[in-house]
Amino acid sequence: MLKITCPVCGLGADETEFTAGGEAHIVRPASTDPENISDEAFRDYLYVRDNPRGLAHELWLCARGCGKWFHAVRDTYSHEFKMFYKLSDPKPQLNLTKKPRARAKAAKS
Ligand SMILES: [Zn+2]
Repeated sequence: MLKITCPVCGLGADETEFTAGGEAHIVRPASTDPENISDEAFRDYLYVRDNPRGLAHELWLCARGCGKWFHAVRDTYSHEFKMFYKLSDPKPQLNLTKKPRARAKAAKS
């Protein structure tokens, strides 16, 4: 069992009390002219995810506690959680073992 501690309400429990939400910090392509967002940029936003061997930012839902989403940093190799932080907290910088895949540009130029 993976032990998770919610940074919002402090609930500490097995991962079965929480719901995984996938990769964190996915940013929707922004544009004042949506017609100029490339298909590749929107495809990447919807479907392309990093799959690092090592530290990864993840979204988790405190399903049995406060019902709030929060972020976690987990080692995908050992499954060990390194830290938990609120959505309002800044993204911590990690020493990733794998360089993140480059994403397509948000808009055609
Ligand atoms: Zn909670």
